Amino acid sequence: MVKAGYRLLFLGGLLSWLCLASPATSELQRLQHRVKPDGSLSFLVVGDWGREGNYNQSEVASQMGVIGEKLDINFVISTGDNFYDCGLTGEDDPAFFKSFTDIYTAPSLQKPWYNVLGNHDYRGDVEAQLSPVLKEKHSKWVCFRSFILNAEIAEFFFVDTTPFVNEYFTDPRQYNYDWKGVEPRDEYLFNLVKDVDSALKASSAKWKIVVGHHTIKSAGQHGVTVELEKQLLPILEANDVDLYVNGHDHCLQHITSTDSDIQFITSGGGSQAWRGKISSWKPEEMKFYYDGQGFLSVNMTGDRADLVFYDVFGQVLHKWSISKQLHDAA
Ligand SMILES: [Zn+2]
Repeated sequence: MVKAGYRLLFLGGLLSWLCLASPATSELQRLQHRVKPDGSLSFLVVGDWGREGNYNQSEVASQMGVIGEKLDINFVISTGDNFYDCGLTGEDDPAFFKSFTDIYTAPSLQKPWYNVLGNHDYRGDVEAQLSPVLKEKHSKWVCFRSFILNAEIAEFFFVDTTPFVNEYFTDPRQYNYDWKGVEPRDEYLFNLVKDVDSALKASSAKWKIVVGHHTIKSAGQHGVTVELEKQLLPILEANDVDLYVNGHDHCLQHITSTDSDIQFITSGGGSQAWRGKISSWKPEEMKFYYDGQGFLSVNMTGDRADLVFYDVFGQVLHKWSISKQLHDAA
Protein backbone atom coordinates (compact mmCIF):
# COMPACT_ATOMS: atom_id res chain seq x y z
CA MET A 1 0.00 0.00 0.00
CA VAL A 2 1.23 3.48 -0.78
CA LYS A 3 1.93 5.29 2.45
CA ALA A 4 0.13 8.58 2.89
CA GLY A 5 2.54 11.46 3.14
CA TYR A 6 1.87 14.31 5.42
CA ARG A 7 1.68 17.76 4.01
CA LEU A 8 3.46 20.46 5.84
CA LEU A 9 3.79 23.98 4.59
CA PHE A 10 6.57 26.29 5.73
CA LEU A 11 5.66 29.82 6.74
CA GLY A 12 8.85 31.56 7.66
CA GLY A 13 11.79 30.17 9.51
CA LEU A 14 10.62 30.50 13.10
CA LEU A 15 9.40 26.94 13.40
CA SER A 16 11.08 23.91 12.01
CA TRP A 17 7.72 22.15 11.96
CA LEU A 18 5.58 23.20 9.06
CA CYS A 19 2.39 24.95 9.82
CA LEU A 20 -0.34 27.03 8.33
CA ALA A 21 -1.08 30.56 9.41
CA SER A 22 -3.88 30.92 11.89
CA PRO A 23 -7.00 32.37 10.34
CA ALA A 24 -8.61 35.48 11.78
CA THR A 25 -11.06 33.31 13.71
CA SER A 26 -8.40 31.71 15.86
CA GLU A 27 -5.06 32.40 17.46
CA LEU A 28 -4.23 28.72 17.72
CA GLN A 29 -1.34 27.14 15.88
CA ARG A 30 -2.54 25.20 12.84
CA LEU A 31 -1.03 22.07 11.32
CA GLN A 32 -2.18 19.98 8.44
CA HIS A 33 -2.03 16.27 7.69
CA ARG A 34 -3.23 14.48 4.58
CA VAL A 35 -5.54 11.50 4.57
CA LYS A 36 -4.47 8.29 2.84
CA PRO A 37 -4.97 7.94 -0.93
CA ASP A 38 -8.25 6.09 -0.27
CA GLY A 39 -9.56 9.05 1.76
CA SER A 40 -9.33 7.34 5.15
CA LEU A 41 -7.39 8.29 8.25
CA SER A 42 -5.89 5.99 10.89
CA PHE A 43 -4.19 6.84 14.14
CA LEU A 44 -3.34 5.52 17.58
CA VAL A 45 -3.96 7.26 20.90
CA VAL A 46 -1.82 6.62 23.98
CA GLY A 47 -1.38 8.58 27.20
CA ASP A 48 0.48 8.70 30.49
CA TRP A 49 3.49 6.80 29.19
CA GLY A 50 7.02 8.15 29.82
CA ARG A 51 8.59 5.79 32.37
CA GLU A 52 11.77 4.64 30.61
CA GLY A 53 10.04 1.46 29.46
CA ASN A 54 8.88 0.41 32.93
CA TYR A 55 5.35 -0.58 34.00
CA ASN A 56 4.83 -2.30 30.64
CA GLN A 57 5.49 0.89 28.65
CA SER A 58 7.75 -1.14 26.32
CA GLU A 59 5.14 -3.87 25.92
CA VAL A 60 2.41 -1.35 25.06
CA ALA A 61 4.84 0.32 22.62
CA SER A 62 5.54 -3.01 20.96
CA GLN A 63 1.84 -3.73 20.40
CA MET A 64 1.30 -0.20 19.14
CA GLY A 65 3.95 -0.98 16.55
CA VAL A 66 2.07 -4.10 15.44
CA ILE A 67 -1.34 -2.41 15.21
CA GLY A 68 0.21 0.70 13.70
CA GLU A 69 1.64 -1.44 10.90
CA LYS A 70 -1.64 -3.27 10.37
CA LEU A 71 -3.62 -0.03 10.07
CA ASP A 72 -0.88 1.86 8.21
CA ILE A 73 -1.42 4.73 10.63
CA ASN A 74 -1.05 8.35 9.66
CA PHE A 75 0.08 9.51 13.10
CA VAL A 76 -0.02 8.99 16.86
CA ILE A 77 -1.80 11.18 19.41
CA SER A 78 -0.42 11.45 22.94
CA THR A 79 -2.87 12.60 25.58
CA GLY A 80 -0.11 13.91 27.87
CA ASP A 81 1.90 13.09 30.98
CA ASN A 82 4.65 12.40 28.51
CA PHE A 83 7.52 12.20 30.99
CA TYR A 84 7.25 11.01 34.59
CA ASP A 85 7.49 12.07 37.27
CA CYS A 86 8.25 15.70 36.61
CA GLY A 87 8.37 16.32 32.86
CA LEU A 88 11.74 17.11 31.31
CA THR A 89 14.48 18.96 33.17
CA GLY A 90 15.48 20.69 29.93
CA GLU A 91 16.11 20.16 26.23
CA ASP A 92 19.05 17.86 27.06
CA ASP A 93 17.19 15.62 29.50
CA PRO A 94 18.07 12.01 28.51
CA ALA A 95 14.50 11.01 29.45
CA PHE A 96 13.49 12.17 25.97
CA PHE A 97 15.45 9.25 24.54
CA LYS A 98 14.92 6.77 27.38
CA SER A 99 11.15 7.25 27.51
CA PHE A 100 10.34 8.19 23.91
CA THR A 101 12.71 7.57 21.02
CA ASP A 102 14.26 4.40 22.49
CA ILE A 103 10.84 2.94 23.31
CA TYR A 104 8.61 3.66 20.32
CA THR A 105 11.02 2.15 17.80
CA ALA A 106 8.65 0.22 15.51
CA PRO A 107 8.77 1.44 11.90
CA SER A 108 5.02 2.11 11.92
CA LEU A 109 5.42 4.57 14.83
CA GLN A 110 7.96 6.75 13.00
CA LYS A 111 5.16 9.14 12.11
CA PRO A 112 4.29 12.48 13.66
CA TRP A 113 3.37 12.25 17.33
CA TYR A 114 0.94 15.05 18.19
CA ASN A 115 1.37 15.68 21.91
CA VAL A 116 -0.44 17.67 24.52
CA LEU A 117 1.01 18.40 27.95
CA GLY A 118 -0.19 16.80 31.17
CA ASN A 119 0.10 17.93 34.77
CA HIS A 120 3.30 15.90 35.23
CA ASP A 121 4.82 17.69 32.24
CA TYR A 122 4.07 21.01 33.93
CA ARG A 123 6.19 19.90 36.91
CA GLY A 124 9.29 20.16 34.75
CA ASP A 125 10.61 22.57 32.15
CA VAL A 126 7.52 22.95 29.96
CA GLU A 127 9.27 25.02 27.35
CA ALA A 128 11.75 22.18 26.78
CA GLN A 129 8.92 19.95 25.50
CA LEU A 130 7.72 22.78 23.27
CA SER A 131 11.21 23.55 21.96
CA PRO A 132 12.15 23.04 18.30
CA VAL A 133 15.37 21.49 19.67
CA LEU A 134 13.43 18.33 20.55
CA LYS A 135 12.08 18.23 17.04
CA GLU A 136 15.65 18.36 15.78
CA LYS A 137 16.48 15.39 18.03
CA HIS A 138 13.58 13.46 16.56
CA SER A 139 11.43 14.71 13.72
CA LYS A 140 8.32 12.84 14.85
CA TRP A 141 7.95 14.94 18.03
CA VAL A 142 5.25 17.64 17.70
CA CYS A 143 4.17 19.48 20.84
CA PHE A 144 2.45 22.78 21.38
CA ARG A 145 0.34 23.96 24.29
CA SER A 146 -2.87 24.15 22.23
CA PHE A 147 -3.17 23.69 18.49
CA ILE A 148 -5.35 22.55 15.64
CA LEU A 149 -4.62 19.68 13.28
CA ASN A 150 -6.58 19.69 10.08
CA ALA A 151 -6.66 16.19 8.58
CA GLU A 152 -9.18 16.89 5.82
CA ILE A 153 -12.06 14.64 6.97
CA ALA A 154 -11.34 15.36 10.62
CA GLU A 155 -10.21 18.36 12.57
CA PHE A 156 -8.43 17.87 15.90
CA PHE A 157 -8.42 20.55 18.58
CA PHE A 158 -5.63 19.97 21.09
CA VAL A 159 -6.33 21.85 24.32
CA ASP A 160 -3.88 22.60 27.13
CA THR A 161 -6.03 21.50 30.07
CA THR A 162 -3.57 21.64 33.01
CA PRO A 163 -3.95 25.41 33.57
CA PHE A 164 -7.71 24.92 34.11
CA VAL A 165 -7.23 22.85 37.26
CA ASN A 166 -7.46 25.00 40.43
CA GLU A 167 -5.72 22.53 42.71
CA TYR A 168 -2.37 22.88 40.95
CA PHE A 169 -2.41 26.59 41.82
CA THR A 170 -4.00 26.50 45.27
CA ASP A 171 -2.44 23.29 46.62
CA PRO A 172 0.59 22.31 44.55
CA ARG A 173 1.95 20.21 47.44
CA GLN A 174 5.68 19.56 47.01
CA TYR A 175 5.61 20.24 43.27
CA ASN A 176 6.83 23.27 41.44
CA TYR A 177 4.62 23.86 38.44
CA ASP A 178 6.17 25.79 35.57
CA TRP A 179 3.56 28.44 34.77
CA LYS A 180 5.79 30.47 32.47
CA GLY A 181 3.67 31.36 29.45
CA VAL A 182 0.43 30.71 31.35
CA GLU A 183 0.25 33.62 33.77
CA PRO A 184 -1.81 35.72 34.05
CA ARG A 185 -3.92 32.57 34.29
CA ASP A 186 -7.38 34.17 33.90
CA GLU A 187 -6.35 35.82 30.66
CA TYR A 188 -4.74 32.61 29.39
CA LEU A 189 -7.88 30.56 30.04
CA PHE A 190 -10.23 33.24 28.69
CA ASN A 191 -8.31 33.44 25.41
CA LEU A 192 -7.94 29.68 25.13
CA VAL A 193 -11.67 29.01 25.59
CA LYS A 194 -12.51 31.81 23.15
CA ASP A 195 -10.05 30.52 20.54
CA VAL A 196 -11.25 26.91 20.81
CA ASP A 197 -14.86 28.06 20.52
CA SER A 198 -14.09 30.21 17.46
CA ALA A 199 -12.11 27.46 15.78
CA LEU A 200 -14.83 24.88 16.40
CA LYS A 201 -17.46 27.24 15.01
CA ALA A 202 -15.35 27.87 11.90
CA SER A 203 -14.65 24.18 11.29
CA SER A 204 -16.33 22.47 8.37
CA ALA A 205 -14.66 19.09 8.98
CA LYS A 206 -16.90 16.03 9.09
CA TRP A 207 -15.39 14.96 12.40
CA LYS A 208 -14.51 17.29 15.24
CA ILE A 209 -12.25 15.71 17.83
CA VAL A 210 -11.02 17.53 20.94
CA VAL A 211 -7.93 16.20 22.73
CA GLY A 212 -6.88 17.22 26.23
CA HIS A 213 -4.99 15.62 29.08
CA HIS A 214 -7.64 15.92 31.78
CA THR A 215 -10.90 14.06 31.97
CA ILE A 216 -14.36 15.54 31.47
CA LYS A 217 -16.32 12.37 32.18
CA SER A 218 -14.48 9.59 33.98
CA ALA A 219 -15.07 6.92 36.61
CA GLY A 220 -11.33 6.61 37.20
CA GLN A 221 -9.25 7.66 40.19
CA HIS A 222 -9.20 11.36 39.26
CA GLY A 223 -12.80 11.33 38.09
CA VAL A 224 -14.52 14.35 36.56
CA THR A 225 -12.46 17.51 36.13
CA VAL A 226 -15.07 20.00 37.31
CA GLU A 227 -13.24 23.00 35.85
CA LEU A 228 -13.43 21.45 32.36
CA GLU A 229 -17.01 20.35 32.90
CA LYS A 230 -17.89 23.97 33.59
CA GLN A 231 -15.65 25.85 31.17
CA LEU A 232 -14.95 23.53 28.22
CA LEU A 233 -17.83 21.05 27.99
CA PRO A 234 -20.51 23.65 27.09
CA ILE A 235 -18.40 24.73 24.12
CA LEU A 236 -17.96 21.15 22.93
CA GLU A 237 -21.71 20.54 23.24
CA ALA A 238 -22.58 23.75 21.41
CA ASN A 239 -20.29 22.93 18.49
CA ASP A 240 -21.22 19.32 17.72
CA VAL A 241 -17.93 17.77 18.82
CA ASP A 242 -17.87 14.03 18.15
CA LEU A 243 -15.16 12.86 20.52
CA TYR A 244 -13.38 14.21 23.57
CA VAL A 245 -10.19 12.21 24.07
CA ASN A 246 -8.06 12.42 27.23
CA GLY A 247 -5.56 10.66 29.47
CA HIS A 248 -4.83 11.47 33.15
CA ASP A 249 -6.80 8.53 34.53
CA HIS A 250 -4.57 5.51 33.96
CA CYS A 251 -7.15 3.31 32.32
CA LEU A 252 -9.05 2.75 29.08
CA GLN A 253 -12.61 4.05 29.13
CA HIS A 254 -15.55 4.81 26.83
CA ILE A 255 -18.44 6.89 28.08
CA THR A 256 -21.35 8.25 26.08
CA SER A 257 -23.53 11.15 27.11
CA THR A 258 -27.25 11.32 27.73
CA ASP A 259 -27.08 15.09 27.09
CA SER A 260 -25.31 15.18 23.71
CA ASP A 261 -23.75 13.05 20.96
CA ILE A 262 -20.23 13.55 22.33
CA GLN A 263 -18.38 10.38 23.26
CA PHE A 264 -15.76 10.58 26.01
CA ILE A 265 -12.68 8.42 25.64
CA THR A 266 -9.88 7.93 28.14
CA SER A 267 -6.68 6.45 26.73
CA GLY A 268 -4.26 6.74 29.65
CA GLY A 269 -2.82 3.23 29.71
CA GLY A 270 0.63 3.89 28.26
CA SER A 271 2.51 2.58 31.29
CA GLN A 272 1.55 2.38 34.98
CA ALA A 273 -2.14 1.52 35.42
CA TRP A 274 -4.29 1.82 38.50
CA ARG A 275 -5.79 -1.59 39.12
CA GLY A 276 -9.19 -1.57 40.76
CA LYS A 277 -9.70 2.21 40.71
CA ILE A 278 -13.24 2.71 39.49
CA SER A 279 -16.20 4.67 40.80
CA SER A 280 -19.83 4.11 39.96
CA TRP A 281 -21.19 5.72 36.80
CA LYS A 282 -24.56 5.78 35.07
CA PRO A 283 -24.78 2.35 33.39
CA GLU A 284 -26.53 3.85 30.36
CA GLU A 285 -23.44 6.01 29.73
CA MET A 286 -20.58 3.69 30.74
CA LYS A 287 -19.78 1.54 27.72
CA PHE A 288 -16.38 0.22 28.74
CA TYR A 289 -13.82 0.50 31.53
CA TYR A 290 -10.49 -1.33 31.78
CA ASP A 291 -8.08 -0.74 34.64
CA GLY A 292 -4.96 -2.06 32.88
CA GLN A 293 -2.50 -0.86 30.25
CA GLY A 294 -3.24 -0.43 26.58
CA PHE A 295 -4.09 2.02 23.83
CA LEU A 296 -6.72 3.01 21.27
CA SER A 297 -6.81 2.80 17.49
CA VAL A 298 -9.12 4.86 15.29
CA ASN A 299 -9.77 4.27 11.62
CA MET A 300 -12.12 6.77 9.98
CA THR A 301 -13.64 7.71 6.69
CA GLY A 302 -15.95 10.64 5.98
CA ASP A 303 -18.97 8.86 7.38
CA ARG A 304 -17.73 6.11 9.66
CA ALA A 305 -15.26 5.73 12.51
CA ASP A 306 -14.09 2.40 13.93
CA LEU A 307 -12.51 2.55 17.36
CA VAL A 308 -10.70 -0.27 19.15
CA PHE A 309 -9.10 -0.55 22.60
CA TYR A 310 -6.21 -3.03 22.92
CA ASP A 311 -4.50 -4.41 26.00
CA VAL A 312 -0.78 -4.88 26.62
CA PHE A 313 -0.82 -8.10 24.60
CA GLY A 314 -2.48 -6.47 21.60
CA GLN A 315 -5.77 -8.26 22.31
CA VAL A 316 -8.95 -6.41 21.41
CA LEU A 317 -10.76 -5.34 24.59
CA HIS A 318 -13.60 -3.22 23.23
CA LYS A 319 -14.57 -1.96 19.81
CA TRP A 320 -17.34 0.16 18.42
CA SER A 321 -18.29 2.16 15.37
CA ILE A 322 -19.83 5.56 14.90
CA SER A 323 -21.80 6.38 11.79
CA LYS A 324 -22.17 9.97 10.68
CA GLN A 325 -25.17 9.08 8.55
CA LEU A 326 -27.09 7.48 11.38
CA HIS A 327 -25.82 9.80 14.09
CA ASP A 328 -25.56 7.03 16.61
CA ALA A 329 -23.16 4.52 18.01
CA ALA A 330 -23.39 0.90 16.96
ZN1 LIG B 1 -2.16 13.57 34.58
